[in-house]
Amino acid sequence: MKREHEAVGETVEEKTIHDHELIIVGAGPAGLCAALYAGRSEMDAVMIEAGFPGGQLLLTELVDDYPGLENVGGMELAQKMADHAKKFGVEPTRGHVQKVRREEDGHFLVEVEGGTVYRAPAVVYTAGGTPRPLDVPGEKEYMGRGVSYCAICDGAFFKGEDITVIGGGDSAVEEGEFLTRYGSSVTLIHRRDELRAQAVLQHRFLKNEKTEVVWDTVVEEILGDGENVTGLALRNVKTDERSELSTTGVFIFVGFTPNVAVVDFHVEHDSAGYIVTDRDMRTDVPGFFVAGDVRSQLIRQITTAVGDATTAVFAAEKYLQDLEEGHGAGAEAPAEARETQAV
Ligand code: NAP
Repeated sequence: MKREHEAVGETVEEKTIHDHELIIVGAGPAGLCAALYAGRSEMDAVMIEAGFPGGQLLLTELVDDYPGLENVGGMELAQKMADHAKKFGVEPTRGHVQKVRREEDGHFLVEVEGGTVYRAPAVVYTAGGTPRPLDVPGEKEYMGRGVSYCAICDGAFFKGEDITVIGGGDSAVEEGEFLTRYGSSVTLIHRRDELRAQAVLQHRFLKNEKTEVVWDTVVEEILGDGENVTGLALRNVKTDERSELSTTGVFIFVGFTPNVAVVDFHVEHDSAGYIVTDRDMRTDVPGFFVAGDVRSQLIRQITTAVGDATTAVFAAEKYLQDLEEGHGAGAEAPAEARETQAV
């Protein structure tokens, strides 16, 4: 389906507006997959991304749970996905999205830093999430000086040192295992007596002789000498016992915050801020589709992101067809059909 919406370069209020059929916000796995399917459907789509394409893949050393690709580097997979989308005509357009607005006529305006505005009747929003901070004293002060949220980026700085990982989910356990190649020890601090991570990741982490888990314990403060991290002040939540742990590298993996701040209109979200969709990735805002980590769902995987994105593009295409045929209102998700999966 090719519609007559080429980028027009129209200037309104001193801003250049580029018209498209579909705007894809973000170029992680969900965005790249949306671009692939939009390209294959010959839609006039633009994909906007602030950084390099790949999203969380760029922070993942090895992906071993993508069907058919047993051991592929995160960056390699990101590049393959970007090349694949490009082959069908949709490449990432660099832009730091500042606002996503909705006009009275139902069109969306995506404003990027520098004044460029993209306009389209449909958006597939795949902006993902940002690592959640632990919110304890010392965290901000020692960020980049011992505190990190990315093992691949910073692990090598802690070669032969005692590393600590905070959290009990897939990220903490997987990244913790990765960090054993650098640290002389990797201690995982978890606030409960049971990990949330998938069993296969837990086993891999726990069987590594460099790893140790401190259960039922929270970090109260990240300690340092004014220059770098030197340790952690800990509290056992069951006994209330306080202790200090000597460490130079603190890797925090306590979840993500969905990137929704730029969305300038009301869209239904769950209690954690993730956007609620129906099974076809429709939100309660007609024309606004959501895929990947920013969506309210049970689990966030590369596979779920690409699945979401595939559905979102076909739903968006259907929405645009309905609009053309004058059935625009039919695109809104019926409330009873929406799966509200609070996380
Ligand atoms: P997550 O699943 O939300 O886990 C966050 C962990 O941090 C939980 O164990 C949580 O403890 C703990 N936590 C949260 N707030 C804390 C606080 N203030 N103090 C101490 N601990 C705190 O986040 P994630 O591990 O980043 O994973 C995010 C999503 O990506 C998940 O859906 C995950 O499956 C997916 N993912 C998948 C893979 C993979 O398949 N290879 C890899 C990475 C991520 P509680 O358990 O007590 O709540």
